[in-house]
Parts: sequence; C-alpha cells; structure tokens
Amino acid sequence: MATNYVSCPNCHSQNPANFQTCTNCGTMLPISPMPMQPMPQYGAQKLPGADKKIAAGICGIVLGGLGIHKFVLGYQQEGIIMLSVYLVSIVIAMVTCGIGTPLVLVTTVIGIIEGIIYLTKSDEEFVQTYVLNKKPWF
Ligand SMILES: [Zn+2]
Repeated sequence: MATNYVSCPNCHSQNPANFQTCTNCGTMLPISPMPMQPMPQYGAQKLPGADKKIAAGICGIVLGGLGIHKFVLGYQQEGIIMLSVYLVSIVIAMVTCGIGTPLVLVTTVIGIIEGIIYLTKSDEEFVQTYVLNKKPWF
C-alpha cells in the first residue's frame, strides 16, 4: 500500500498524509492534497425552458398557422393573434372562393419558419431568446 507524505511547513520533515500535526515539531500540517473534485458540468444540467424548444419547433412546423407553438412558449397574445389571423384567412379564402387562400399559407409559412428557427437554435440561444427575452416573433 503506497503511503502519501506531507511535508511539514515548519521543519520540512515528512509526515504521513493522514496526520494532522507534524510528528517532529507538532506544527499543524497542510491538508493532504485531495483529488480535484470535478466541476459540475454546465451542459449536463437541463436549462430551464430548453425542453420547450422541440415541442414549440414541432408545433410550429406541423400546426403552422394555428399559433400553437406560441402557446407552448407562453406567448398567449401572439398565439391568439396568429390563430385569429389564421381563422380569418380561412373565412376570407372561403368567401372569396379560394382567391384568399394565399393568406392561409402566409400564417402557415410563418409557423413553419419559426418552428425551423427554434429547432436550429442551441438550447442556450433558445432559452436566451425566447424564454428570457420573450422575443415574440421569429
Ligand atoms: Zn515539523
């Protein structure tokens, strides 16, 4: 069994590492060198809000214009605006016998673009932009 020694700061005699005082002069010995505690990994802990990224991204792409991804992010107002615009677009499209259909596509495309933006961001960027700064659009 290998024994570690600690050098006495007073008389420089070698003392077993588990000794607290010098066997020669009685001076308090420095604490024996401990293996460095690994620092907690920053990336290992889940960022609060980062779990919304995938959900919001997928909702944006799949449900697009319905604005569900806005609700996922906690943007009630933007979600209601988007849903209203989407529904009004559908009504306009029906009333105009399809001429207004591109309006429906606009909100759908906005949803898809926003969903892709969410998914391409890193967790840190996503939390910074949409959870902390509450960036409402894009
Ligand atoms: Zn000593």
